[in-house]
Amino acid sequence: MVPMQIRNFLVLLALPLMVSAAPKYKALIIDGQNNHKWAETTPYLKKALEDSGLFTVDVATTPSKGKDMSGFRPKFSDYKLVVSNYNGDRWPEATNQEFEAFVKNGGGFVTYHAADNAFREWAEYNQMIGVGGWERRTEKDGAYVRVSPDGKVSLDNSPGPGGHHGKQHAYLMVTRDKTHPIMKRLPEKWMHAQDELYDSMRGPAQNMNVLATAFSDPAMGGTGKDEPLLMTLTYGKGRIFHTMLGHYTDAVRCVGFVVTLQRGAEWAVTGKVKQKIPANFPDATAVKQLP
Ligand code: ZN
Repeated sequence: MVPMQIRNFLVLLALPLMVSAAPKYKALIIDGQNNHKWAETTPYLKKALEDSGLFTVDVATTPSKGKDMSGFRPKFSDYKLVVSNYNGDRWPEATNQEFEAFVKNGGGFVTYHAADNAFREWAEYNQMIGVGGWERRTEKDGAYVRVSPDGKVSLDNSPGPGGHHGKQHAYLMVTRDKTHPIMKRLPEKWMHAQDELYDSMRGPAQNMNVLATAFSDPAMGGTGKDEPLLMTLTYGKGRIFHTMLGHYTDAVRCVGFVVTLQRGAEWAVTGKVKQKIPANFPDATAVKQLP
């Protein structure tokens, strides 16, 4: 028998462990090649996922550009979520097929910033991301996605290049789907920290839902249109969150970037979002950044 006082003491010791539940899901970030500073942004993505309390995170780093890629075979089926911070050489065909099967069978996928520049010639990948940019994309790769001022989404097949951005600046994000679990109860408008504002992206844009846009200001070299920047898609049984935000560390330290990434990641895995919205979420007037 353990004396009562000692037993109470042991219960007190165990209490914090019982309150903070262990992270439930395994996530894998892929990086290793990018025309962006992936080695600097991946730690922010990892921290955001871990800080949600939902994920443990591994990182799979590919060989560098031009090196032998044949050994790059992450075991996707060990994970609930894959986050791509990758824009580079093609993966082995077997890896592509395993990734397609992972998402098709219900795996969650987050495509982050320039990951939607990658793999122009991989049709199934473009189905997953919906729209992409650069790498000589044109009308042959799919449509532009237009969002009218009142929020109607349409596809525009007119010819032209896919992918562009103007000068970096802080800009206002506007929710277009207020009822989606990722966006529910977020402020309808919030300031995003200095970032690129992708425009004129194009692709198959199937099974895609626009969550938020930002106005691409001609004064900053933009299109004068409301450009979709946060999207969800489905591919088979898989759910995909597409964030075009996050060029560099200013942008990935934005509380709005972090919170939408965390919520998008949870939704991609479960189809629901149970995370609370933090008190420091930005409003329509001021950028909020983490240290
Ligand atoms: Zn960029």
